[in-house]
Amino acid sequence: MQQETNVLRQQLEYRKRLMDKINEIHSAENLNTILIHIKDSIAGLFNAERITIYLADTKRNLLISKVKSGAEFQQIIVPISDTSLAGSCAITGTIINIKNAYDINELKMVGSNLTFDDSWDKKSGFITRQVLCVPMKFQKTLIGVIQIINNKGDIPYDTTDISYALELATSLSIAIHNIYRLSLTTKVIRHKARYNYLLDKNLVDDKLLEKASTHPEVVKIGMDTVLMREFGISRDDMAKNLSFYFGVEFIGYDPTVPPLEDELLNRVKPDRLNKEWWVPFKIENSVLHIVMDDPADLGRQDMLKFVYPEYKRISFIGAFRDDILNYINLFYYHGASSASSGSIDDILNKLDSSEDPEVESESQRVSEQDSVIVQLVNKIIIDAVNNKVSDIHIEPFPGKEDVQVRMRVDGRCKIYQKIPYRYKYAIPSRIKIMSNLDISERRKPQDGKIDFKKFGPLNIELRVATVPTAGQLEDVVLRVLASGEPIPYDKLGLTDRNSRVLDACVKQPYGLVLVVGPTGSGKTTTLHSAISVINTVDTKIWTAEDPVEITQRGLRQVQVHPKIGFTFAAALRSFLRADPDVIMVGEMRDQETAEIAVECSLTGHLVFSTLHTNSAPETITRLLDMELDPFSFSDAILCILAQRLARRLCSCKEEYIPSQSEIDEIILEYGEEHFAKAGIVAADIKLYRSVGCPKCGDTGYKGRLGLHELLEGTDAIKSLVKRKSEVEFIRKQAIEDGMTTLKQDGILKCFQGLTDLKEVRKVCIK
Ligand SMILES: [Zn+2]
Repeated sequence: MQQETNVLRQQLEYRKRLMDKINEIHSAENLNTILIHIKDSIAGLFNAERITIYLADTKRNLLISKVKSGAEFQQIIVPISDTSLAGSCAITGTIINIKNAYDINELKMVGSNLTFDDSWDKKSGFITRQVLCVPMKFQKTLIGVIQIINNKGDIPYDTTDISYALELATSLSIAIHNIYRLSLTTKVIRHKARYNYLLDKNLVDDKLLEKASTHPEVVKIGMDTVLMREFGISRDDMAKNLSFYFGVEFIGYDPTVPPLEDELLNRVKPDRLNKEWWVPFKIENSVLHIVMDDPADLGRQDMLKFVYPEYKRISFIGAFRDDILNYINLFYYHGASSASSGSIDDILNKLDSSEDPEVESESQRVSEQDSVIVQLVNKIIIDAVNNKVSDIHIEPFPGKEDVQVRMRVDGRCKIYQKIPYRYKYAIPSRIKIMSNLDISERRKPQDGKIDFKKFGPLNIELRVATVPTAGQLEDVVLRVLASGEPIPYDKLGLTDRNSRVLDACVKQPYGLVLVVGPTGSGKTTTLHSAISVINTVDTKIWTAEDPVEITQRGLRQVQVHPKIGFTFAAALRSFLRADPDVIMVGEMRDQETAEIAVECSLTGHLVFSTLHTNSAPETITRLLDMELDPFSFSDAILCILAQRLARRLCSCKEEYIPSQSEIDEIILEYGEEHFAKAGIVAADIKLYRSVGCPKCGDTGYKGRLGLHELLEGTDAIKSLVKRKSEVEFIRKQAIEDGMTTLKQDGILKCFQGLTDLKEVRKVCIK
């Protein structure tokens, strides 16, 4: 009687513990909790040495489990077949209870093909004896198998154990089934949760999210990217959205971030990081920060604990995938030198060379080749900057002709590279993504701008223009905007007289200084150099530019946006209310701007600007033609500098004595009268011709040189302005006042061997 009560009490106790376990199972939030954590307490319930919970992957006909061995997680995979204990249990759906796994006869009794795989025992020194396998099913669907190994009392599992194991299997099946189902339904809800910020800001609505989720590219590039590329969500908004969603910081690319020490970086190869989209980022207060595309990915977070076991705390920061790639390039390849890990040919080799005609189809224009296209475009831009290229031309052709990439250096285009025709859509698309243009619009020209530091290791900007070309193609032209520092004033190549006059003008308290010339003649560079002379802490300088190409510390530089009504004129007016000493206005495009600029210069401000005119004297007549008041203008004018850029002879140049006829021609071009006055001895003239060497790419020229014509606002000039004189009179007077014309300046620079006559004639043509 007493004994029976004890057994009953034991069973009740056992039953209570089982119910606790079952409750625990049902409150488990994910499979890992069940597979790894709850599992151990279940083992205790059966007094077992080990327990394995397998999940069935019926598609692949496998049982899969995870075990923690030491500090690592390992997957155990067993085929669903009659050769193994768990596999056999799964395939037959029946309980398998073995007293001794090493007893071949006992195994044969259960199934003729049944064997025991002792490899794990051999590896670990563990000896398997009792094995109890129970199938887990939910509504006839196989969920998995519970495998209980070795009773600590070394006695076979009995019917009580089996009935409890079955009860446990039922509970586990339901719990696991619910977790699966949950993960399916949450996918739908998750979309809404993930884009809560965008929904709140009315940047998307349910309909749009639904449309985006069925976009064919979602599988390949993900919903976030689809929303940005196809549905107009900006990168900034998406970054904010994801930051809210993940509850972590979300960062962009910053090329000034210092890399971690090599030891930490070298634990993982960059190739792997490129595939897994993460990178070790920084250590702060002994917390390791990892940048990751999905900072909520528990799988990768677990894995990282084993890569960096010494860090008790690892913190996660979100970033877009292309930014992560940029960081990997920056940290592992030290930026520019191999921001695209190798030469352009290396990258081209990575492009898929298969002859699949589908690749050309539009839907695949930016596909799995994405990261290579990203590298390719980055490499083109980095090479352009390193080679002092001013413009990059991407030129696709109809049919199977390769895409041509040409670059303009020192004013001339050169072929840089040919790229397989299959990427004639991918490359323009990538550039359009970088410049926030509409990639689906290919019939209209578009223009935009790339802030390259977001994508690559250089802090430069590019202006982008797309032009639809024959065959439904699109040319893209990128202008590399001069960046960073202005050229030092003494490096402008001004003659002594020009340097002296200009320097005196920029030191005046008020008045108007103009730099003129055609597009690409270096006006802005010169203007900035001139301003740098007076850029001191006691002078307030406002600039309105379009675009801001050169930045100078100390200047307050403003980007105008004519499209939204913030024109040069509007900027000028706002400056007047903002206590300026010096104002620079990028360009006097219209009468209104010119009038306000003159007005500013007459009310005690020094004003700098540019104009698209051919010569300094012509500038005056142009402005008078704009109906500028001649009296105000004549009072305002300090000087007008016309400029051209000519190619500079490379050091491989060759000196020669010109023939008499050549000298005669030069004198004629210079103007006989002026030549005589300039005091040049014809017999002493030496000229230089271009040769070509490896340094200049066999062109004979390297870099460029400014040619100038500086008209000083003397009293005589001012009175001609008041009288609205003809351009010829103004030119004559200016020369009288000491001006050398562009052509004359060029010829003098030929005598010095800086350039040659061919160049001077070319850029001084009217
Ligand atoms: Zn050379």
